[in-house]
Amino acid sequence: MQHALQTLAYAVIHLIYPAICLTCDRSLSKHERLLCIPCTLSLPFTNFHLLASNPLDKKFWGRVTIESTCSLLFMEKLSKSERLIYGLKYQNREDVGEFLAEETAKKYRNIWKNSGINVILCIPLHKKRLKQRGYNQCHQFCISLSQALGIPFYPKALSRISFQSSQTQMNRSSRWENVSQAFRINNSSLLEGKEILLVDDVLTTGATLEACASSIIKSCQAKVHVFTMACKI
Ligand SMILES: [Zn+2]
Repeated sequence: MQHALQTLAYAVIHLIYPAICLTCDRSLSKHERLLCIPCTLSLPFTNFHLLASNPLDKKFWGRVTIESTCSLLFMEKLSKSERLIYGLKYQNREDVGEFLAEETAKKYRNIWKNSGINVILCIPLHKKRLKQRGYNQCHQFCISLSQALGIPFYPKALSRISFQSSQTQMNRSSRWENVSQAFRINNSSLLEGKEILLVDDVLTTGATLEACASSIIKSCQAKVHVFTMACKI
């Protein structure tokens, strides 16, 4: 309900005030959406889709078997990508997810088609966190990606069963202890034998993605690819 009200409020404000670029506050033309063209062109894209291997591959080495790991943007302090992810996570800007999904689909469509990816999942939020935030910040991204690529997204296939305080200040081993038993697979037959794209917002230590991917691989004969909207190298 709170989320619906926020969305409605945003729509009304949008009608009264002209849209402005999320990262530079310039007024947007009717052909621009979310970001102005100069800001879009200067986003710190990783362009990992052009490389045979990338620096994220080693994040999971020796921990869990991940088929491929990619990210759309580099996350740098006070950068445009940081502003986008902040809007997405804390300011109810799910349109950021839609925008990033369109950019992602342009770059990764053929790679994922060739990999045979046939399911999209995202890291679930605990119901307490979901209530606090009002939405899962990865959902709109996954819905838009699913529509663009014609690959099903199952938002209820996974649950988060333990609630943790924020992980942002923790190191990798603390994060791992925090999340290792955190996920439940609700319908393993749905994921059996699938080639899964597991999505999260930001890849930092990888502990959350590792725990979630381990649970999926243990419960289902599935392969997991990891994709995040932004990454810290
Ligand atoms: Zn701009």
